[in-house]
Amino acid sequence: MLVTLRRLVQEISAAASLDEALALLVQRVKAAIPVDACSVYLLDVTSDRYVLMAAEGLNPASIGQVRLSRHEGLIGLVGERQEPVNLKNAAAHPRYGYSPATGEERYHAFLGVPLISYRRVLGVLVAQRQAPCPFDNEAVAFFVTLAAQLAKVIYNAMALGDVSRLLSGEVRENAFIQGIQGAPGVAIGTIALLDPLAGLESIPDRQAQDPAAEEAAFRAAVATVHEELRASSERMAAVLPNETRALFDIYAMLLDSDSLMAGTLQRIRDGNWAPGAWRDTIAGHARMFEQMEDPYLCTRVEDIRAIGERVLIRLQAEAEISRQYPERCILVGDTVSITDIAAVPLERLAGIVCRRGSALSHTAVLARALGIPAVVSLTALPLRRLDGVEVVVDGDHGRIYLRPARTMLAAFQQRVRAAAALSAQLSTLRDLPAETPDGVRVSLYASIGLITEFTPALNSGAEGVGLYRTEFSFLMRDSFPVEDEQYPLYRQVLESFAPRPVTLRTLDVGGDKILPYFPVQEDNPFLGCRGIRFTLDHPEIFLTQLRAMLRANAGLNNLHVLFPMISRVGEVDEALGLLARAYRELMEDGQVAAKPRVGVMIEVPSAVYLVAALAKRVDFFSVGTNDLTQYLLAVDRNNAEVASLYDSLHPAVLSAVRQVIDGAHQQGKPVSGCGEMASDPAGALLLLGMGIDALSVSLASLPRVKWAIRRFTQQQARTLLEEALGMEDEGAVHDLLNGALAAAGLG
Ligand code: PEP
Ligand code: MG
Repeated sequence: MLVTLRRLVQEISAAASLDEALALLVQRVKAAIPVDACSVYLLDVTSDRYVLMAAEGLNPASIGQVRLSRHEGLIGLVGERQEPVNLKNAAAHPRYGYSPATGEERYHAFLGVPLISYRRVLGVLVAQRQAPCPFDNEAVAFFVTLAAQLAKVIYNAMALGDVSRLLSGEVRENAFIQGIQGAPGVAIGTIALLDPLAGLESIPDRQAQDPAAEEAAFRAAVATVHEELRASSERMAAVLPNETRALFDIYAMLLDSDSLMAGTLQRIRDGNWAPGAWRDTIAGHARMFEQMEDPYLCTRVEDIRAIGERVLIRLQAEAEISRQYPERCILVGDTVSITDIAAVPLERLAGIVCRRGSALSHTAVLARALGIPAVVSLTALPLRRLDGVEVVVDGDHGRIYLRPARTMLAAFQQRVRAAAALSAQLSTLRDLPAETPDGVRVSLYASIGLITEFTPALNSGAEGVGLYRTEFSFLMRDSFPVEDEQYPLYRQVLESFAPRPVTLRTLDVGGDKILPYFPVQEDNPFLGCRGIRFTLDHPEIFLTQLRAMLRANAGLNNLHVLFPMISRVGEVDEALGLLARAYRELMEDGQVAAKPRVGVMIEVPSAVYLVAALAKRVDFFSVGTNDLTQYLLAVDRNNAEVASLYDSLHPAVLSAVRQVIDGAHQQGKPVSGCGEMASDPAGALLLLGMGIDALSVSLASLPRVKWAIRRFTQQQARTLLEEALGMEDEGAVHDLLNGALAAAGLG
């Protein structure tokens, strides 16, 4: 049964369309197990009716014709009950409703199983038999298992169908496609699909007329791409840090690799034309890496595909491009690489959308650094049909609106104008302190991670850097940076902000932040070798980073070092031991260095209960609500399927954060908030109510957070907090805070 199930699901998942998938489903089920009829009904949300979509063993003319209201007949009963209905004689059931078009009167036994995905009943899978005896347990188990697995496939196929309907003009007002927030803000523009000419998979085989000419064309295409990479790298020099531009070198190296070059040349010599030979080489490499399921190699698969598409474009010389990008260009692709972004003139680049990626993927990181709204992880996006389509990218909510209706467009234009007006208005607060009307002062710091953010952070009025994510510069390289490469970066940020404090967080990799040059394979990476666990396992890497930080602090004395992912006191003792050793060694080497203040992140639930013990060891705490929320609520922060369950305003998270702040204050240690909760005015107000000492926020949100602090007294914030803590779910907390902010003028 397991084998049959697996084969069925695989085959149906590979179908090109929803109709094809459903037709296959009923055919294969009827062939695989002893039933006389198999059919599938889907719920059409527009008409609120179940429609017979595919059937074997029923009158074929009835397909698409039988339409039942949501509560009609046995199909309606299965949908209402959301569980299987197994009858030996369907006609005897009070809910039986005869559909003459189907010819089903000859069947007696009926088994209806709901198709449910994301808690929504999508439809009903039905098996029928002539013999009047109920389906046995084995058959019921088979159908229930099949329906559970196929519901997801059907959901995705339906989502693609919805998108197609949006594109074909049957626009439903407010219809959007949900993804994950990549970078905040709203962008309205025209889609420029990445390399729509390329499509490696669709290249046909063709006998090479002149293999020597094919070989020459291939070599020329590779040389041109090399040149493009070099030019892109130069063009981005002004806006991207060196370590980011190093990715161009990775692409260049891949291009030169023997297996890509020699493999293709051999295929050309064997008779295929250059595009066909190149397609096979790329496909072979991609397949090989994908099967290995190694995070490092997975990253390389994307790089290989990106390079593949690029060379192919060059090979297709006659259709070739001097590509014109739309004035407000929304770059859309399966993945959007740094080279793709570099190809668009920056003044035209308005937004970024991709089917893959997570909130912490390179694309999202770069989009945030460039201040460009982005939405990622939009799996149901039919890329081939999108070029030139008008779109709204809502980076704040992780949604896109294709071909938005006029009223919708007007609403977004209004939002863009309001955001611009608000930021102009709020920019007047730049030099004012983050102080409540009742005189409570909160230090307002910037959270950054790229060199390009230094100047905007300095200009934002931030009182320092509350979180510098050092791992970003590690992620955008091809090998670990040595001490002399790290030192200038840390020195630059400390110098830029001195005498204001700068908190450098030690390398926080693991989870979804996998170093391309240090693959770690784990079944459960978020519970694995992350943050401090990784650096303690690799003192050679940790000590190098600590030495670079201590040297950078010489003469400035504004360095704060922050250890991420602390879950036990022993980790802090070890980390402090290594910090002391790094300092000692520098002194012994005759280097100039200065000791920093040291803090730990509270982002693992165990640390919440260890605050008193930790306070004896460190100078300050920083609450990382992004991870604390993920671990307290057991919700993967990057998983779109459970995104609706992830919420930092959940009363349990609020309670934990308050416990940390109270515990730290009892020991006389300050606490700052550095997760996204601090960047949200609602979250910032609650933190203010808890008596937080500092907030570290993203640059885009700094003015709004400052506004909220200057608008509410701490007493008001305390009252809101007490009310929020008495609530049972996060929805009520949002309503409470949104109401208070709107009443104060921040809608
Ligand atoms: C956090 O977890 O809240 C945090 C600030 O760290 P990061 O988002 O980088 O994991
Ligand atoms: Mg974290």
